[in-house]
Amino acid sequence: MRNALTNCRRVVVKIGTSSLIHESGRVNLQAIDRLAYALAAMSNAGSEVVLVTSGAIGVGLAAQHLTSRPAAIAEQQALAAIGQSSLMRLYGERFTDYGASIAQLLLTHDVFDYPASRRHVLDTIDALLARRVIPIINENDSVATDELDHKTTFGDNDQLSALVATSIEADLLIVLSDIEGLFDRNPKQHPNAALIPTVAAPAELAQARATGAGSRFGTGGMVTKLKAASAMMAAGKQMVLCSGADPRIVLKVVAGADVGTWFGKEEAQ
Ligand code: GLU
Repeated sequence: MRNALTNCRRVVVKIGTSSLIHESGRVNLQAIDRLAYALAAMSNAGSEVVLVTSGAIGVGLAAQHLTSRPAAIAEQQALAAIGQSSLMRLYGERFTDYGASIAQLLLTHDVFDYPASRRHVLDTIDALLARRVIPIINENDSVATDELDHKTTFGDNDQLSALVATSIEADLLIVLSDIEGLFDRNPKQHPNAALIPTVAAPAELAQARATGAGSRFGTGGMVTKLKAASAMMAAGKQMVLCSGADPRIVLKVVAGADVGTWFGKEEAQ
């Protein structure tokens, strides 16, 4: 039982494309439905909930009946534009079913680099949360590019979610992933790999990043999650990394259940 998780008021949930799209490339409607149900339930119970979602390009691919990502950036950005609106329509339907209101924010990195625009975005999020509306955030993929003098990309949505969570002083970031948490070895290659339930000190996290499981996973997926965990811990906040196979797991997380890997301050356990 993780007591520190049971009194989190402001919670950011991040869900990745792999949890929203089936391997066949079709949209995972059950995952979207369960996510909407769980976040609406959290909001009804009094939490301030923010969703950071990927899936724009994935839903765009599905909408265009494509099975692989085109190489051209403009094509990917077009698919993101197509998919983002479809994704929001799906979220809109499901969240409405559960009596929750949602709003969309599409952000680029420079929004956080310029104090005035950062302030406006944070004020907007605050105003939405005060109205019990769930902000749904993604990178503005069709705008974001990495240019020398004008950085607009976040790199990935793990960084975006950590930046949002620390900027709005969220108590907790829940990262829903295609892996159950941080393991001591790559579980895809080592059947006996053990889940690390707790990373409770910056030194433990630094070790995991430098020598441990995360950095050896190869795909980069775990590296970005540990970077997000590091940002949360540095801000004195908590993060839970867990499987997004059934997004209703977020209800277990905020109830303090021992699922996934918990990153936070030692005394909070
Ligand atoms: N913004 C991208 C999308 O919605 C995903 C980026 C990421 O998952 O890191 O498709």
